[in-house]
Amino acid sequence: MDPKSLLRPNIRDLAPYSTARDEYQGELGVYLDANENPYDNGYNRYPDPRQTELKQLLSRIKGVPAANIFIGNGSDEPIDLAYRLFCEPGVHNAVSIAPTYGMYKVAAAINNVAFREVQLGPDFALDPDAILAAADADSRLLFLCSPNNPTGNLLAAAGIERLVREFPGIVVLDEAYIDFAGAPSFTARLTEFPNLIVLQTLSKAWGMAGLRLGLAFAGEEIVETLSRVKYPYNINVVTQKLVAEQLAQPVDAEVEEIVSQRGMVIRDLQKLPVVRHVYPSDANFVLARFDDPRAVYDRLVAGGVIVRDRSRIKGCEGCLRITIGTPDENMAMLEILSTL
Ligand SMILES: *Cc1c(COP(=O)(O)O)cnc(C)c1O
Repeated sequence: MDPKSLLRPNIRDLAPYSTARDEYQGELGVYLDANENPYDNGYNRYPDPRQTELKQLLSRIKGVPAANIFIGNGSDEPIDLAYRLFCEPGVHNAVSIAPTYGMYKVAAAINNVAFREVQLGPDFALDPDAILAAADADSRLLFLCSPNNPTGNLLAAAGIERLVREFPGIVVLDEAYIDFAGAPSFTARLTEFPNLIVLQTLSKAWGMAGLRLGLAFAGEEIVETLSRVKYPYNINVVTQKLVAEQLAQPVDAEVEEIVSQRGMVIRDLQKLPVVRHVYPSDANFVLARFDDPRAVYDRLVAGGVIVRDRSRIKGCEGCLRITIGTPDENMAMLEILSTL
């Protein structure tokens, strides 16, 4: 499959805005090309629109060539861009699993793209047959999320692989929680699958939610097209600088601690009378079912602990989603639940 053939014609033919920094790239010089204020305060110059240095750092960490990395203002940016690249509003449709991350659906609505949701099977397992049955010749995007939010489970790799091979459009595989999963990323297989976009983020394991940095890994042509359509200066100077500094601080020990706390939280939750069921988790949160989730939620809030009420989502009836915090925070949550 040639992903270029799936691009909207206006995007395929787009002549991108050319920034001053695109036209001349060099180090030392007298910069009179971008109408900036010349007095140095640390922020007076425009950022690198190609994020060259950051991509080199990320390339080393992720083991993916820089030419296969797109950097966005959070994962939200590549999610929205995927619609803008591949879906003609009012014509094409996108397919997704359910329940899953809400942003895929919101971005579809913003772009006036029909959104087809296919419920996950028992234990939130991927159902490739149902997904392929929901697709047609106008299906341009398939959103998968593994480990999935809010269910917490990894989707079976064989099912993902089959969908990438058989889905008639682009498959966006969101791996926001892959660092907690102990399973290999699909980024190692990009050359096999020209229609695959893998999303990751620095918001979860890497501890940089406040800096807003999302990653899309894909074939060079898709990355190049995403880069032509994005706002030229989508990643500001401060974010580029702080992310580069922060990437030098390994997070392995924190991730290990979170994963070990996850096991402890699951075991302790299972012992509590108020808890009906705890779903297995490959992420940094657990989904737990209660008879009266709203009452449990309110009691937690009264004790100063905020979790996410997912009980009104189809397939998650009765469920609260609980993020794994520090050992003290987890203890505070468990202590309140133990009184119910
Ligand atoms: C948290 C999360 C993200 C991260 O979004 P950012 O915009 O990068 O902060 C992406 N996908 C899923 C499924 C998430 O849960």
